[in-house]
Amino acid sequence: NVIGKMMKEAFENGQYKLPELPYSFDGLEPHIDAATLQIHHDKHHQSYVDGLNKTIQEIADLEGEIDDESAKLYGLERNLSFNAGGHVLHTLFWATMAPKAGGEPTGNIADAINNNFNSFDFFKKYFSKVATTIKGSGWALLTYEPIGDKLIVFAVNDHDKYLGPGAIPLLTVDVWEHAYYLKYQNNREEFVKAWWNLVNWNEVDKAYTWIRRRFKDKEKM
Ligand code: FE
Repeated sequence: NVIGKMMKEAFENGQYKLPELPYSFDGLEPHIDAATLQIHHDKHHQSYVDGLNKTIQEIADLEGEIDDESAKLYGLERNLSFNAGGHVLHTLFWATMAPKAGGEPTGNIADAINNNFNSFDFFKKYFSKVATTIKGSGWALLTYEPIGDKLIVFAVNDHDKYLGPGAIPLLTVDVWEHAYYLKYQNNREEFVKAWWNLVNWNEVDKAYTWIRRRFKDKEKM
C-alpha cells in the first residue's frame, strides 16, 4: 500500500528523508497544479525533513552543556515538534491523494465514519468546515484514537499544535497558503472542495483497518 511504502521511504540510513511522490507533478491536475505540487514537495517538504534531521543532531550535540542551555533547548524543542509534524503530515498528505480518486469511502473506514459522524455527508461538511476555518496555517486531520476506538478530527495549527497525543493520523489536508495560493489565491474553500476529488479512500481504509487491528489484537494479550 502507498501509505506504508511512503512512510518506509521517509526514513533511511538513520536519517529522515523526502519520499518520492507516487504520481507525477501534473498527476493531480486540475485540482492541484504541477507548479504548486513541485514547489510544495521539493522545497517545503524538503525543508521540514532537513530541519528535523538538523534539530535531532543539535539536541544530540547539547550533551554536557545542557544546564546552561535552557533557552536554546526551548528553541530546539519547538523546531523538533514543528519539523517532525511537517514531515509526517506531508508524507501522509501525498500518500492519501491519487489521480482520479475521490468519491465516497468503502469498507471499514466507511462504517467507522458513519458510526462516528452519522453520515459521510456530515463528515465531509464538518471536515471541510474545520479545514476552511483554521486561523493562519494548519491542517484538518482525521485520526484514529485507540483508547476510545474513535475517529477524531483535529484542527491542527502549524504542523503540531492542538493535536491529541496518541491519535494516529489517517487523512489530512494541508491548508497552509503554500498548498493552494498559486491556483486558488485566497480561496481556501475552493481548494478544499477540489481536494476531495483526490482523496484515495482505498488507502485510508487500508491504513485504518491495519492500525485498528494492531490495537484490537493487543486487547487480547
Ligand atoms: Fe505544506
